[in-house]
Amino acid sequence: MFAVRAARSARLLRRAFTTGSTNGFVGAIGNTPLIHLKTLSEKTGCTILGKAEFQNPGGSVKDRAALGVVRDAEERGLLKAGGTVVEGTAGNTGIGLAHVCRARGYRCVIFMPNTQSQEKIDLLRMLGAEVYPVPAVAFENPANYNHQAREFAEKLDNAVWTNQFDNTSNARAHYETTGPEIWEQTNGQLDAFVCATGTGGTLAGTGKFLKEKSGGKTQIWLADPPGSVLTSYISSGGKLTERSGSSITEGIGQGRITDNLATFVNDIDGAFTVPDEASISMLYQLLDNEGVYLGASSALNVAAAVELAGRLGKGKTIVTMLCDGAYRYQSRLFSKKWLETKGLTSAIPEHLKKYAVL
Ligand code: PMP
Repeated sequence: MFAVRAARSARLLRRAFTTGSTNGFVGAIGNTPLIHLKTLSEKTGCTILGKAEFQNPGGSVKDRAALGVVRDAEERGLLKAGGTVVEGTAGNTGIGLAHVCRARGYRCVIFMPNTQSQEKIDLLRMLGAEVYPVPAVAFENPANYNHQAREFAEKLDNAVWTNQFDNTSNARAHYETTGPEIWEQTNGQLDAFVCATGTGGTLAGTGKFLKEKSGGKTQIWLADPPGSVLTSYISSGGKLTERSGSSITEGIGQGRITDNLATFVNDIDGAFTVPDEASISMLYQLLDNEGVYLGASSALNVAAAVELAGRLGKGKTIVTMLCDGAYRYQSRLFSKKWLETKGLTSAIPEHLKKYAVL
């Protein structure tokens, strides 16, 4: 009797473990919670929801794209066991790729602009990636980090340049995962989705899915940091201007229409720019009001959702992306000295300055 009962409970335990576990590191990517941002929802009279992408196992939204481009390379036979993945990245895609490569046994080589935070470079190296910080020059310049990544991969056998900007398996990853998750989590009851773009993968893939599923009813908006050309491109009906200006936000803003963004750019309902002052102020407010510790692109996205709430009117449900946490940027975003050099100290409300402890 006892033996039968013991065998039964072992079986139940095994079943509980099997249903509760994921298929390795990559199985833990996605299915992130949608956080109701209470204070901002009350303030705007809308429901503002942030997709907690910082909960992905590599710590950012880019885990989805990293898995998407590696899977695509494997399926197309471009990457075989023991191969090398080479990418040009501002950091988060590299971190996602470094994790995926470790989990799948690939060598990972990352080229990145030398303007990125030391935390991201250190983390990449700790994850076993080879990192080459190179001068931050425009895409048109042959020394741009993306071209260096491509050339590096071309010289090797069994190596792939995953090309996150123009490889549309990036947007496809969001079409297949982020979009359906948001649709399900809101029971299809969302009026708008807004976010900033780097490669354009998140906005294009998620936006395309939500537009299709809602029969065109869900509005898709692009939010830009200063120095990006996308707002003027969309607002002018397709005129590409020279890039000028800069932003403290890392990983977003763009000087061209990438192939990922091109898959959806004509279906975007509107775009606007969010100043760095609004992003940094929101970053500190989110920490104080909601207890979420976010990177600057997430703060920009939430500031954009609040701006959109004002434009669309009360009662709407607006979803945005909380792309990563502040851990990767704390030596900048929470440093009084750094904020001072960027002229942003006065943008932070007086009672929130206490959080700038570094
Ligand atoms: N936020 C952060 C922190 C990022 O690293 C990136 C990607 N570089 C984005 C937002 C933008 O995502 P996407 O590339 O899908 O446009």
